[in-house]
Amino acid sequence: MEKTLDIIPVTEWGFFTLPRPMVIAGPCSAETEEQVLETARGLASWGIHMFRAGIWKPRTHPGCFEGVGAPGLKWLKKVKEETGMFVCTEVANEKHVYECLKYGVDMLWVGARTTANPFLMQEIADALRDTDVPVLVKNPINPDIDLWIGALERLNRAGVRKLGVIHRGFSTISSKPYRNAPGWQIAIELRTRYPNLPFFADPSHMGGDRKYLQELSQRAMDLGLEGLMIESHCNPAAALSDAKQQLVPADLRTLIESLLIREKDSGDKEYREGIEQLRSRIDYIDEDLLKELGARMEVSRKIGAYKRDHNVAILQTARWEVVMAAMKEKARIYGLSEKFIDDVFNAIHEESIRTQNEVLEASREA
Ligand code: PEP
Ligand code: MN
Repeated sequence: MEKTLDIIPVTEWGFFTLPRPMVIAGPCSAETEEQVLETARGLASWGIHMFRAGIWKPRTHPGCFEGVGAPGLKWLKKVKEETGMFVCTEVANEKHVYECLKYGVDMLWVGARTTANPFLMQEIADALRDTDVPVLVKNPINPDIDLWIGALERLNRAGVRKLGVIHRGFSTISSKPYRNAPGWQIAIELRTRYPNLPFFADPSHMGGDRKYLQELSQRAMDLGLEGLMIESHCNPAAALSDAKQQLVPADLRTLIESLLIREKDSGDKEYREGIEQLRSRIDYIDEDLLKELGARMEVSRKIGAYKRDHNVAILQTARWEVVMAAMKEKARIYGLSEKFIDDVFNAIHEESIRTQNEVLEASREA
């Protein structure tokens, strides 16, 4: 039985308004006071209300720029005073939380590496007890929806009701062409389980390159997510972290204004929004299917070469019968008919045999 989360609607937090997307923007890292203020001014000039900047940076390798630390919080305070924007930053332990509370940071987010750690999540939740600060929780780096939900539950039990999530993709063996595999089906699953949970996407860390920001942002909007967290820097080429994925404020404006937003309305429009979202889910699943089929054929090619090297015949009917029987058994669990499985897997098998033959032919010709 799913536990519910007790959440205050995002429109009541005082930062974000409709229409979508609700945008959180700012540099990966706060580097200098000038860089922070110049970026903030650029964003505030066209209506961004929530500024982000990393103060403590979780870096893969030691010796990389690990953030300016607590002194950077003063710069965020200046952003508030000068531009009237709200500000947010990443916290990874209770000390970070206390520092942020001291400097009046308006909102916090928990990074992907921290969400994956229940000890730290509990520590952060305890530090936030009896406060009113909103928290957005990024997905854990590994595609584990329960770990994500567990982090949300810890915060919610500590009384954090201004709670939301940021989908930034997952670290997997192959995430190409992106830095992190989108795994949209996990976002869809979470959205389905908690329809009232405010949902942001982070196309910057998902894509890892500014050339993917547009398509990933549009996908997030097509799925009906509320908002976007995007990295923006006044001089991306000189950024001390994530230089490749940051945009100058003016380019971010162009990107946001180019997004096609289908808002909920009434009657037919509502239907169209629903059908669009369902279709885009189908598109993502189909893309995954293609990727998996490609990977499967790659293995077939290897099997072809292996059999050839060991002088073994390609067609092994006994093995295929066992595979098919197991598939049909499993198919029932997924609500798929035997006939469908027969059709699909026989087609796959045929192609696999053809692929293995190709390998054989090629080495005969060689
Ligand atoms: C960030 O937002 O700068 C960050 C470190 O992101 P993530 O936790 O998604 O890697
Ligand atoms: Mn970053």
